[in-house]
Amino acid sequence: MIAPLLPTYARADLAFERGEGAWLVGTDGKRYLDFAGGVAVSALGHAHPKLVAAITEQAAKVWHVSNLFRIPEAERLAERLVAASFADTVFFANSGAEAMECAIKMARKYHAVSGKPEKYRMVAFEGAFHGRTLATLAAAGIQKYLEGFGPRLEGFDHVPYGDLAAVKKAITPETGAIIVEPIQGEGGVRVPQAGFLKALRELCDDKGLLLVLDEVQTGIGRTGKFFAYEWAGIEPDILAAAKGLGGGFPIGACLAKAEAAKGMTAGTHGSTFGGNPLATTVAGAVLDVVLEKGFLDRVARTGLLFKQRLAEIKDRHPAVIAEVRGEGLLLGLRAVVPVGDLVAACRAEGLLTAPAGENVARLLPPLIISETEVGEAMTRLDAACAKIEATLAAQARGAAE
Ligand SMILES: *Cc1c(COP(=O)(O)O)cnc(C)c1O
Repeated sequence: MIAPLLPTYARADLAFERGEGAWLVGTDGKRYLDFAGGVAVSALGHAHPKLVAAITEQAAKVWHVSNLFRIPEAERLAERLVAASFADTVFFANSGAEAMECAIKMARKYHAVSGKPEKYRMVAFEGAFHGRTLATLAAAGIQKYLEGFGPRLEGFDHVPYGDLAAVKKAITPETGAIIVEPIQGEGGVRVPQAGFLKALRELCDDKGLLLVLDEVQTGIGRTGKFFAYEWAGIEPDILAAAKGLGGGFPIGACLAKAEAAKGMTAGTHGSTFGGNPLATTVAGAVLDVVLEKGFLDRVARTGLLFKQRLAEIKDRHPAVIAEVRGEGLLLGLRAVVPVGDLVAACRAEGLLTAPAGENVARLLPPLIISETEVGEAMTRLDAACAKIEATLAAQARGAAE
């Protein structure tokens, strides 16, 4: 018998009743410090007063009208994203995968209308994650997610993340773009060597390729800049954002330079829900907070402090944690023990984390996290590590007997 809710997730047996800031209250009555952050979505935590006010006010006006008409809320949000970034124009979708789907279509269309339709291929990276649609799965090339779903969309060439020589080798006359995450989130908070993005930018300029950044996870302040590319001192041609943009309300965005978007004329792409008044109003309220003077600097500072504290925990528990990774508030702990054990031990201590690739547990707190809450998370993580060590010691004793 199948569950009414399609069982495509291995869920923890835990549900929540409500949330406030960085905290969630479980239906078990326990309070949890939410450093899973809805997988980097809950940028302003739970029940942020400004988001609650924005959504309530807009809900009483108009939710949805369709893209047959002008949507002033979407126009305003697009103007603000343009003002805050490299971009000249924005398409709104409902998820990260859809934002990436638009990015992929846009890059192909750019070359087609430039008289080079053969340049439809893209170089992408091993360990990437771009979403679960057929195109974005093909873009990431993850075998286990593609298995059983028939022929994959053609046109993606995969090379090891961070390997510039391999990128150069993979470029052919049919290559039109490079698709890359500034930090691989789902892949395990993998941070490339300094200079990697810059080198990709130069390569793209050299070869007439578009640089497509997937900032679905790294964007909207997660790394301490509005977009992570700012750390590299470069600009992409196309960028996908989503997760933090709606603070929990589903919205995605594909941002682009005018030149890169030149093929996307009326009728070439669309979305029924994309950019509706409700979604774009909520995202506007998220930007009100994230783009406030000093907010992102505080995220960067808190991230640095957090990372230092995590390094201390790692030194105290070398049998549990092997490595601390990440930037800003996109941090990861590579575990020595199976990462599921670390995630479960943290959860038992009332600290929620999100597992990722390479045996990494991600810590993705809301960007509004206080130093006190970081300290509270440390106490709980410390306790979780101590419990795992106790279990390991007991197992070792059992094996010796
Ligand atoms: C989560 C994620 C996606 C997919 O977003 P969905 O909203 O789940 O479709 C794409 N790219 C990256 C980098 C992500 O982290």
